[in-house]
Amino acid sequence: MSDTNYLNWPFFEERHRTLARELDAWATQHIAHGHGSDVDAQCKALVRTLGEGGWLQHAVGDAIDTRAICLIRETLARHAGLADFAFAMQGLGSGAISLDGTPQQRERYLGKVARGEAISAFALSEPDAGSDVAAMACSATLDGDHVVLNGEKTWISNGGIADFYVVFARSGEAPGARGISAFIVDAGTPGFEIAERIDVIAPHPLARLRFSDCRIPLTQRVGAAGAGFKVAMRTLDVFRTSVAAAALGFARRAMDEALQRATTRKMFNGVLADFQLTQAKLAEMALTIDSSALLVYRAAWQRDQGQNVTREAAMAKLAATEGAQQVIDAAVQMWGGLGVVSGQTVETLYREIRSLRIYEGATEVQQLIIGRDLIKQHGAANNA
Ligand SMILES: Cc1cc2nc3c(=O)[nH]c(=O)nc-3n(C[C@H](O)[C@H](O)[C@H](O)COP(=O)(O)OP(=O)(O)OC[C@H]3O[C@@H](n4cnc5c(N)ncnc54)[C@H](O)[C@@H]3O)c2cc1C
Repeated sequence: MSDTNYLNWPFFEERHRTLARELDAWATQHIAHGHGSDVDAQCKALVRTLGEGGWLQHAVGDAIDTRAICLIRETLARHAGLADFAFAMQGLGSGAISLDGTPQQRERYLGKVARGEAISAFALSEPDAGSDVAAMACSATLDGDHVVLNGEKTWISNGGIADFYVVFARSGEAPGARGISAFIVDAGTPGFEIAERIDVIAPHPLARLRFSDCRIPLTQRVGAAGAGFKVAMRTLDVFRTSVAAAALGFARRAMDEALQRATTRKMFNGVLADFQLTQAKLAEMALTIDSSALLVYRAAWQRDQGQNVTREAAMAKLAATEGAQQVIDAAVQMWGGLGVVSGQTVETLYREIRSLRIYEGATEVQQLIIGRDLIKQHGAANNA
């Protein structure tokens, strides 16, 4: 672990410091940076390894420790983007069951997820409902003690390798966001198929799903009828700050790489780090990393205190993902031509960071959340 001084910040308790140090030592032994050619196999192996290491238990269950999740994602992202992805998706995919599942659902799924024996996925987005989630069209029609799903989901991480999917569909109790319910759909259920596998710039399992008269028992519904939107938002609320933590991990790795290169690359009778332009760039990168870390762990700490973090989580996600993109870009620049060679660590980071500015609420969506919250608080203060 490079610079661990931030672990002494008052946001953390001793157990968090121990967790971060132990995970870093474990990851150094068990996790390699970069993507191989078979990401499906790599992801499955990583889920198993993380389960055997005991790390996945932090991602499931009702006693969610946001600071622990953030430290784990930050640490894993610094070692390997795919390891962070595997950890995060076990949490996001099973999050609805952790928060709102019945005892039977929890019993059937959560233990396996925590041990790395079952892979989970979170299926909310659709071709015509991304940022505008409430526009979803996938339908869930009641038929006795079953529901019948029809429609499509897209951009579903772990699509194709997951053992079960938490699917959000329009059940029609009310218009808009109040008429959506969540259902667990096991892989292999008749009427459910992987319509398309999607390739992205930093490969990970991703797919478009299709439901054609897919019948599932009502006992697979998570939460009350019509409460699906709330279930989805509560799940995303837990994990939004952790996306920021992953971005922070990528940025820290880029900083390590930049320092390593700048202090050893010989040029003009010295090394790259001798130049003030380089020192200024390194200072900007460090400032961005520390500002992001402060925002990430403020939001995580505040959530662990049981406080509302709508604005704080949005600020953390926006600042850390946008900031990491800049830090990584600066690191690529310092590596010169080598920085754009396929498979170099900074080149991989450059591709890995990009989608974090889009998913779980694009940057513009976070700006709206922050702006609206400021106006709401201002109104409340004036009416008090
Ligand atoms: C790698 C990856 C993994 C993903 N994994 C999952 C998953 O596991 N499960 C899942 O359900 N979804 C997943 N998604 C989907 C993701 O959540 C959506 O891509 C995201 O919500 C944006 O939706 P969209 O792609 O339809 O873009 P659109 O909604 O079409 O938005 C396009 C752009 O418009 C801008 N924008 C949006 N709203 C506003 C606004 N109000 N004002 C101004 N500009 C705006 C933003 O820049 C945004 O990027 C994943 C996406 C990616 C890229």
